[in-house]
Amino acid sequence: MSKFWSKRAHQLDPYTPGEQPQDQQYIKLNTNENPYPPSPKAIEAMRLASDELMRLYPDPTARDLKQAIADFYTLDYEQVFVGNSSDEVLAHTFVALLKQDKPLFSPDISYGFYPAYCSLFNIENTKIPLADDFTICVEDYCKDGGKDKGGIIFPNPNAPSGIALSLNDIEIILKANPEVVVVIDEAYIDFGADTAVPLIAKYPNLLITQTFSKSRSLAGLRVGFAMGHPDLIEGLERVKNSFNSYPLDRVAIAGATASIKDTKHLDNTCQKIIKTRERVSLALEKMDFTVLPSKTNFVFAKPNQADAKKLYLDLKEQGLLVRYFSAPRIAGFLRITIGTNEEMDEFLLKIEKMI
Ligand SMILES: *Cc1c(COP(=O)(O)O)cnc(C)c1O
Repeated sequence: MSKFWSKRAHQLDPYTPGEQPQDQQYIKLNTNENPYPPSPKAIEAMRLASDELMRLYPDPTARDLKQAIADFYTLDYEQVFVGNSSDEVLAHTFVALLKQDKPLFSPDISYGFYPAYCSLFNIENTKIPLADDFTICVEDYCKDGGKDKGGIIFPNPNAPSGIALSLNDIEIILKANPEVVVVIDEAYIDFGADTAVPLIAKYPNLLITQTFSKSRSLAGLRVGFAMGHPDLIEGLERVKNSFNSYPLDRVAIAGATASIKDTKHLDNTCQKIIKTRERVSLALEKMDFTVLPSKTNFVFAKPNQADAKKLYLDLKEQGLLVRYFSAPRIAGFLRITIGTNEEMDEFLLKIEKMI
């Protein structure tokens, strides 16, 4: 608290990221980072980009990166927007594409940055409860043509549930809400769910965001992007150019461009993680955890014979971090990022001893 803070700063409800302890070495299974390295081609491109040209401003349009993303998804250049992390892309989306005088609809259990941005941009947030099995209730988003809302946002697959919605259900939501933008946050899409990109051609109200932080192992680089109708992209560009004309530095543009071109590396990494995820899910079920069906690089699991918070604290004491949320409906769960096979073996061993 300070008398120098603005009224808005006083009222904020900032997002709390997972712990990034700098004091000791932990096995980090708490922030959904990728345990495998990024594409060697991306690392090489970043090395090459760190040269004397750094004295110049980078390309404000990040043309090479946008074109590479457009090529990857067979879209037009005008259908792609890039930013300094998908969180930043989402922030611009809140300013550019929501009707701020009406509530934003999102699931009650979802990504914590949506309510944080609602408080930053002074937007009401209507939280729609997930069903008892933690799936999204499609019909709750489909009443009265979208006149009651300023927009819709949810991750697909959802976080922290890990559960994916079918393209069929997404299409039902898009059709029922032609007056507002529906934002699908596909941060985890490469781990087994279907991207909604093919729906962009049919639905001008669809905006998809993605990130290089999870499946492409580049959380440290901070690159995200959005895809949608050119009118939506132009709205985002207007906001971006009113905020920071050069959000991506030369190194980030070079690294992300090389990364998205290396499709083989992406496939290999994701396949390894999916395989480990399925193995860990089974092992946890054998130890009497309820494990939600995940299409992400984490599992959301509830120990039926133990206290989740105590497990989290005990694991931390033993140098292993997972994520615990105290929110009412999910206080009995742990969110466990899928690490390497060795890390997960160690995790399972520790859990077995505690249960
Ligand atoms: C990790 C995550 C993001 C943020 O990605 P960055 O590009 O690293 O900002 C966005 N949405 C969801 C649901 C996430 O889990």
